[in-house]
Amino acid sequence: MLPDSITQLIAALARLPGVGPRSAERIALHLVQTDPAIVKQLADAILIAREKIQFCTTCGAMTEKSPCPICEDSRRDASLVCVVERAVDILSVEKSGSFRGKFHVLGGKISPLDGVEPEDLKIADLEKRLAGEPIKEIIIALGTDVEGDATSSYLAKRLARPGLKISRIGFGLPAGSGLEFADELTLSRALEGRRDMS
Ligand SMILES: [Zn+2]
Repeated sequence: MLPDSITQLIAALARLPGVGPRSAERIALHLVQTDPAIVKQLADAILIAREKIQFCTTCGAMTEKSPCPICEDSRRDASLVCVVERAVDILSVEKSGSFRGKFHVLGGKISPLDGVEPEDLKIADLEKRLAGEPIKEIIIALGTDVEGDATSSYLAKRLARPGLKISRIGFGLPAGSGLEFADELTLSRALEGRRDMS
């Protein structure tokens, strides 16, 4: 019933996270009735952001230039590295405002059922950083689900080195969830209450 171009727009929007079929239809119908200049602004913003954003070759953060501003910031504590699952988790930790160290994005969690093995994660890169940077503590900030537990234990064993402290946040985090579900205060307390794993 709808013109083809609108149907295709709805289908494309519905593939976005958090956009169901009804929202996709509402947004599409709104866009096709909006001033073309405003729609062009939106389209350009999407393209430009996608073209500019890359992943930091050191820590894996989303950035417009690599190394990213966090890796380059000499005011941040280079002896502390917070290990997270995904680049977006850095945003959650940053919002908590209570961490002034550096980051390392693993790119996933060990999950044999889903075919994710340790070699699929950026663990070797982290070992390289341990060899070349003045890191004194690794803070593992993975979710509190089964894969998060397994990955944390694996990391604690594999990264163990004389003089390196390995800790894990978790205290107060909702069970079975990732960092994105924790509010800033909870995350801040979880960081402060991290437990030693070394
Ligand atoms: Zn970085």
